[in-house]
Amino acid sequence: MQAEARTPDLPNSVSVPGLTCRFCGTSLRYSFVDLGMTPLCQNVVRPDEFNAPETFYPLHAFVCHECYLVQLDAYVDPGDIFTEYAYFSSYSDSWLDHVRRYSEKMIDYLQLDGSSRVLEIASNDGYALQYFVKAGIPSLGRPPTWRAQPLIVALIRA
Ligand SMILES: [Zn+2]
Repeated sequence: MQAEARTPDLPNSVSVPGLTCRFCGTSLRYSFVDLGMTPLCQNVVRPDEFNAPETFYPLHAFVCHECYLVQLDAYVDPGDIFTEYAYFSSYSDSWLDHVRRYSEKMIDYLQLDGSSRVLEIASNDGYALQYFVKAGIPSLGRPPTWRAQPLIVALIRA
């Protein structure tokens, strides 16, 4: 007997008509985290805009019960979010130390070597991939914004 697909009634079950998974198209009905209303990330408010209103959007992530993709509803075109992207992960020494230790653990645990490939989506400025590259593991990163592109240290090796 094959188990039926189950969609348990969890306390974070929600009803958002028309909200479907971006990957598989399933209707989303589970809240992952609701952080309330927030202005757009990466917006720089200039001094002449201090008294101007700022638009806030819901920062509510949902999880698809079929493919487990965690996602936000789309409110703003991505091109409007990342045009002034100012954050580069490599600014943080503690974050760099964390990802260095993480990469060392993953290289050991997964037994990665020169025949392996590492792919990171939203790789920022290559802060994490640099440690795989230094270990001789071919790596490819896709930054969230093309502003980070000149800074990325990821390499592609055939
Ligand atoms: Zn899905």
